[in-house]
Amino acid sequence: MSVLITNVGELVTNQPGPFAAVADAALVIDAGRVAWTGPAARAPAADQMIEAGGRAVLPGFVDSHAHLVFAGERGAEFAARMAGQPYQAGGIRSTVAATRGAADEQLRANLRRLAAEMLAQGTTTFECKSGYGLTVRDEARSVALAAEVTPEVTYLGAHVIPPEFEPDPGGYVDLVCGAMLDACAPHARWVDVFCERGAFGRDEAAAVLAAGTAAGLQPRVHANQLGTGPGVQLATAVGAASADHCTYLDEADVDALASSATVATLLPGVEFSTRHPYPDARRLLDAGATVALATDCNPGSCFTSSMPFCIALAVREMHMTTQEAVWAATAGGARALRRTDVGHLGVGARADLVMLDAPSHAYLAYRPGVPLVAAVWQGGERVARSSL
Ligand SMILES: [Zn+2]
Repeated sequence: MSVLITNVGELVTNQPGPFAAVADAALVIDAGRVAWTGPAARAPAADQMIEAGGRAVLPGFVDSHAHLVFAGERGAEFAARMAGQPYQAGGIRSTVAATRGAADEQLRANLRRLAAEMLAQGTTTFECKSGYGLTVRDEARSVALAAEVTPEVTYLGAHVIPPEFEPDPGGYVDLVCGAMLDACAPHARWVDVFCERGAFGRDEAAAVLAAGTAAGLQPRVHANQLGTGPGVQLATAVGAASADHCTYLDEADVDALASSATVATLLPGVEFSTRHPYPDARRLLDAGATVALATDCNPGSCFTSSMPFCIALAVREMHMTTQEAVWAATAGGARALRRTDVGHLGVGARADLVMLDAPSHAYLAYRPGVPLVAAVWQGGERVARSSL
């Protein structure tokens, strides 16, 4: 059954490539795909008609970086940080302990609650990492649970060295590249590593990515979050889909991102939640790098599932234009996941749409913190709505 959504105040299509929008537009969806877009006055007939009343319609958000398989929470750690204590990567270990102790059902319930929260805020595609199990059994069940809710599953056994391997970090890297990888690869599409002081160095990270690639996974890297380091150079050298964080970059890092297909994925919710300086998005954009925005939703350094919030931060705090931020949260995220079927509303794209209770995409930053998502379609099915 075809559906015509008409009287759309602003239809963001991101076609043919950069941010693009049509005013007074309409869109037809059929068999789960976008079948037609153009001026409302020229819209073809369809089996069903939805009156948008001048509201904006955007591609569903593509959140290319999230850690949703975990147990426990770290609200007290956040409060302490806001009271002046610094964030350290080792805080991950408290979530590891809680995750190891949780039943599958508990992990599944938390994961599904967060996935539903994302969908209600317009995220129709999301990536989900393991990385709070750090044993063969716990990493394997983490990726298996993630695969229940998204095809974009990332094996992140190399998130942090677990306490029992502190005297033998090399032994842990061997495990990540060996038995743990064998158990996780069947459920995952991506391999990721936290390449950072206090986590994994360049050689260890390179070994993890090489082993994952040999097992059929595609690489992505947590890079340059807490300081300058080898993460971005490693990501571009191995042809990673994305280098994520990019908070501390030198000139060579910016050049490497601008001259490669590796997407620079910025996670401004982390800097908001840790009071760290924001990444220099303008420097990356002006150099010609491809920039994506994602939430990094996780219980430690950034517990938001909201792409609209990240868009508002990107505009206000990273000096991105509203167009750049919305593109980065849709088409940029799709590029970071090497997906061509989402992140835009060209004919043939998956009919993943967000309708805002607002006349333009700019309201996502203009009215921060306001629930503007009026309706969401995923694969042509209306899946969430708040006010429409
Ligand atoms: Zn992360």
